[in-house]
Amino acid sequence: MAKNLTTRGEDYSKWYNELVVKADLAENSGVRGCMVIKPYGFAIWEKMQAELDRMFKETGHQNAYFPLFIPKSYFSKEASHVDGFAKECAVVTHYRLKNAEDGSGIVVDPDAKLEEELIVRPTSETIIWDTYRKWIQSYRDLPLLINQWANVVRWEMRTRLFLRTAEFLWQEGHTAHATEREAIAEAEQMMNVYAEFVENYMAVPVLKGTKTESERFAGALETYCIEALMQDGKALQAGTSHFLGQNFAKAFDVKFATKEGSQDYVWATSWGVSTRLMGALIMTHSDDNGLVLPPKLAPDQVVIVPIYKNEEQFNAVSEVAVDLMKSLRKEGIRVKFDNRDTHKPGWKFNEYELKGVPVRIAIGPKDVEKGTVELARRDTLSKEFVPVENVVGQVKGLMEDIQKNLYNKAIQHRRDNTRSVETYEEFKEIIKTKGGFVLAHWDGTPETEERIKNETKATIRCIPIEGEIASGNCMVTGNPSKRRVVFAKAY
Ligand code: AMP
Repeated sequence: MAKNLTTRGEDYSKWYNELVVKADLAENSGVRGCMVIKPYGFAIWEKMQAELDRMFKETGHQNAYFPLFIPKSYFSKEASHVDGFAKECAVVTHYRLKNAEDGSGIVVDPDAKLEEELIVRPTSETIIWDTYRKWIQSYRDLPLLINQWANVVRWEMRTRLFLRTAEFLWQEGHTAHATEREAIAEAEQMMNVYAEFVENYMAVPVLKGTKTESERFAGALETYCIEALMQDGKALQAGTSHFLGQNFAKAFDVKFATKEGSQDYVWATSWGVSTRLMGALIMTHSDDNGLVLPPKLAPDQVVIVPIYKNEEQFNAVSEVAVDLMKSLRKEGIRVKFDNRDTHKPGWKFNEYELKGVPVRIAIGPKDVEKGTVELARRDTLSKEFVPVENVVGQVKGLMEDIQKNLYNKAIQHRRDNTRSVETYEEFKEIIKTKGGFVLAHWDGTPETEERIKNETKATIRCIPIEGEIASGNCMVTGNPSKRRVVFAKAY
């Protein structure tokens, strides 16, 4: 029961909620389902944003910004889109408040009713495609490759910090193409960009695949996704990339003059990852002592804690610490020297363990004498004494080792918790007692998918893109199946 955290074994869900709050990542706010992201949590999100933004730009995208509000009439133009989002929309109906006549406080001014109600964007396809009509005339205007960093609102009923909130931060890419093939290639490319980011930076292994029709984004012809497995055996959808066909172009009348001189509707994609990735990061690596961060995304990769009893000792230790900090920074390593005298070393050790700082260096008067420091790694909790002159080299190596170790641990966990089954009985037993990813044959119908969901709470996370393709028979109906799909209970 270190750090007074509930352990994962006791109650995984409680452990997660406590960890998010105690590691200073986020907290609930006065608005139901909306969170306050605290500076430490936001610093990690900023690191994620910076890498993703770089990757988007390297693949030819530019950032832009569209309004928070969407006129209701825009929203209703694409029928399946509105169907999908209608049940979780926040709507602005008035633009003014006034003092109540009976003095009971502030009320909405009934005279200030909007002529057309505004939807707080749950996603921006509609307002963006209304704009693209003005931007796209000819094949020369294509492809149009735009991304926006924004907040969106989906009135979710059951919320969890980072994983599912009513307001969340995300990026949404919206691209327009001259051909179907190009748009599909873009949607696949962005799924691959997400997979690369999540695996290489977050050290979280993902499965790439497509969604079934019933799990598809409202308005999409195909939804590509990446799915991760959390430590409790539940799946988390970590990112989605949609091929939208010509649905939005038709709804918003976005046509272009082709090279051959005819008029055609534009082909579209959209893709997004959100602050849910923070949840994936926390849940994948952390332990009963707190957060564990991969070095590539840790705001502080190394923290130096001085140990001293008096000013003389503090000065001697500080000298070594500051030199070391400078040498590490020269190598591009993010280092913090915590020289606050308001907190004891033990308190600091605890704090940085809870906050998942990958490497901790402690320096005391004895170390100064011996020319050593104590180096501790957060992922394995191991400690060793290292000669000062070796620290920079060792820390550089550790950054890579820790990153790799976290990924390897996570992929081992996924391997241990991925099972193939033949019968529905076996399936139900595993979903109930073990969880994890279960590979099984399915007949491809929404009815069977729905039945499995109702009876077991497991859903089809994806139809995998990689891996072995072998036909078989649906575990429920016995009808033919082209390949196994991935089931799990999901967040
Ligand atoms: P979608 O537009 O539904 O494809 O979602 C885009 C991304 O946002 C996906 O990566 C989802 O996992 C994520 N997402 C969807 N709903 C929420 C939510 N309520 N809170 C946080 N992230 C979400």
